[in-house]
Amino acid sequence: MRKNDPASATLALIFDIQRFSLHDGPGIRTTVFFKGCPLACSWCQNPESHKLSSELIFYKDSCIGCFQCREACPDDAILDHPLVRIDYPKCSVCGKCVSVCNTDSLRLVGREWNADELLDEVLKDRDYFEESGGGITLSGGEPLLQSDFLKTFLPLVKEIGLHINLETCGMAAWNRMEEILPWLDLIFYDIKHMDSEIHKKHTGCGNEMILDNFVRLAKRFGNLQARMPVIPGINDTQGNVRSLAAFLKENNHDSIHLLAYHNMGEAKLERINTRQKPMNLKSMKAEHLLKVKELFEKEKIHVVIYD
Ligand code: SF4
Ligand code: SF4
Repeated sequence: MRKNDPASATLALIFDIQRFSLHDGPGIRTTVFFKGCPLACSWCQNPESHKLSSELIFYKDSCIGCFQCREACPDDAILDHPLVRIDYPKCSVCGKCVSVCNTDSLRLVGREWNADELLDEVLKDRDYFEESGGGITLSGGEPLLQSDFLKTFLPLVKEIGLHINLETCGMAAWNRMEEILPWLDLIFYDIKHMDSEIHKKHTGCGNEMILDNFVRLAKRFGNLQARMPVIPGINDTQGNVRSLAAFLKENNHDSIHLLAYHNMGEAKLERINTRQKPMNLKSMKAEHLLKVKELFEKEKIHVVIYD
């Protein structure tokens, strides 16, 4: 089916595909994680998603120091250091060291998929989608960075009748969002902070484009759901909650999904080439999240919690 269609020449760079997801929209879903993100949130749980290119990661705990990798490397990019194995400026991400490492201590993150391959992968769970009312969720990173691929892929998914949810940080030119709207059934839209300066401090970008896109979507897309990752001491204040609640109401929305902060992403930082630093925050306790829920409820915003 559709093999050799010229349209399928458009490729997506994907860093993970999770089957049987239960929190990324209704029913049982397959969540596809697109690589590349315009934001760099200091609390990001998927720091390996940030770059729009494949990258090499190193697991120091399983490395046995055999240096088969150094023998295989054509670019002299393997270091003899207990914590740092890769000389990133020299590495061309050829993957030769990955194939010779018997302990799986070197891995490539990010693989190219064409639309047909990805559809075949997603359709493995079609029976579960049909029984549960599930479907596919586009996540990341930021899927809209790869909107050319989505314009090829989503019509194929829709032709089969699968439910499609987009999880977005909203930081994308409006036309990238607008051109894929016809194929979407649901959008989970993250709003991280209402103060643009604080937003910029913690994500690298102001929030103007994100809020503008939400306003436009609220006018023309019926199934838009706001979400906020709750980060202790950063966006869980009464002032931010009030401001976000007012913004939602101005745009005829009265609900939000709250996502609890977890520090699981911090263990990944030492494995990858990133400037992200650990925040050294504890994962959020249920009672803390309930307090933030109460703040929203005082503002007449209905809350769903994901912890
Ligand atoms: S080949 Fe794998 S186990 Fe051996 S030194 Fe390189 S990273 Fe470590
Ligand atoms: S990916 Fe290629 S260039 Fe980079 S360290 Fe491994 S073998 Fe060397």
